[in-house]
Amino acid sequence: MTETADAIIIGGGLHGLSAALQLARRGLNVLLLERARIGRHSSGASAAGVRTLGRAPAELPISLAAMEMWHNIADLVGDDCGFQATGQLRVAETQAQLEQLSAQVTQHQLRGYTNEEIVGAAELRELAPTIAPHCLGGVFARRDGAADPHRTLAAFLRSARSAGVQIREGAGVTSLAKRGDIWLVAAGEDRFEAPLLVNAAGAWAGQIAAMAGDDIPIGTKASMMIVTERIAPMLKPTVSAVGRMLSFKQTLQGTILIGGGQQGRFDLVRESADVDARALAKSAAAAVALFPGVERLRIVRTWSGLEAATQDHIAIAGLSPSTSGLMHLFGFTGHGFQLVPALGIVTADMLLDGATCFDVAGLRPDRLMHGAARDPLLAKQA
Ligand SMILES: Cc1cc2nc3c(=O)[nH]c(=O)nc-3n(C[C@H](O)[C@H](O)[C@H](O)COP(=O)(O)OP(=O)(O)OC[C@H]3O[C@@H](n4cnc5c(N)ncnc54)[C@H](O)[C@@H]3O)c2cc1C
Repeated sequence: MTETADAIIIGGGLHGLSAALQLARRGLNVLLLERARIGRHSSGASAAGVRTLGRAPAELPISLAAMEMWHNIADLVGDDCGFQATGQLRVAETQAQLEQLSAQVTQHQLRGYTNEEIVGAAELRELAPTIAPHCLGGVFARRDGAADPHRTLAAFLRSARSAGVQIREGAGVTSLAKRGDIWLVAAGEDRFEAPLLVNAAGAWAGQIAAMAGDDIPIGTKASMMIVTERIAPMLKPTVSAVGRMLSFKQTLQGTILIGGGQQGRFDLVRESADVDARALAKSAAAAVALFPGVERLRIVRTWSGLEAATQDHIAIAGLSPSTSGLMHLFGFTGHGFQLVPALGIVTADMLLDGATCFDVAGLRPDRLMHGAARDPLLAKQA
């Protein structure tokens, strides 16, 4: 038997859930198909940093809009998702790095953005009292922060369900076809139909795009994380560093979470990501260089999570240029968690109204689709 809906979402990560929630709140009958289980991949592996700091110009407007939503996230999903506006701090270790950061922040402020400010050595030590003595200052985004990825998943899942979204776990989409305006979706033996489709399939979204006739080249990231034993409170902001692959923060529970983009090994066919201990040791070394006091902490767990990466490191959020009724929502390249609340609304706007008031022009999929066929009807909506 074929199940019908107004919209089908492929992928049960945070972006699929957020899109499903917004479409359901606009009155649609929404079906979400997840091949494994909700949050199985990137969304369940995330460090959940909520960062506007250092965003590329193409992502900055939607990132700033998302940040406003994070400050009122309970209004959206009935829970604060563990969000704490403890700030994000990028540290300079040399005078040259500090000058480079100052020049970037000056340019940023001249363009009218106020989310970043330069901090000198004294304020750096107020923000991060145990930071290594050689660190000179940095750039601070005060309204940024971090959330709890599992609470966020639970809150979006609960909200989506109470808005009426039907969720099918263990439903991996295997083929797509179109009959008139209707998408025909197969997940093994099961069949589904809907006029609207969202491709939020994370690391596998390029394959879903190809099934729909869109050739969007993407790579894969398998970023790794370390979590340590609990220690007494030592740090509030999330800290990164110029010239090092490092993201360092203390959770509310007291553990230290260390990431920054060192890559593990992955196998897309087996849907697996494994830790590469040699590469992960570099993250640990970077953490010790900035915070020598953590050198003797015990590591409790390490992991790696899979997601799609684009050539320009900018997310993809936009309608298919070749087929109507299809929204691509993937390619978050290691920084998609923060964008979740805003891109759900963008998805509903684009699919239902053909346009959105959010500035997502730089996220259009066709920027990466060389020679892609363009549907003349859709060109008008852009
Ligand atoms: C270690 C790590 C740390 C990170 N830290 C941060 C951070 O600090 N800040 C930040 O902003 N971002 C961070 N990110 C990135 C962020 O977590 C992701 O961008 C975001 O979670 C992506 O969500 P998603 O819903 O697009 O993808 P996913 O959560 O990967 O969801 C995609 C889902 O699609 C499903 N799927 C795939 N193929 C099919 C199919 N054929 N049929 C049905 N379902 C399918 C998958 O099973 C998966 O559950 C981090 C990522 C990792 C891995």
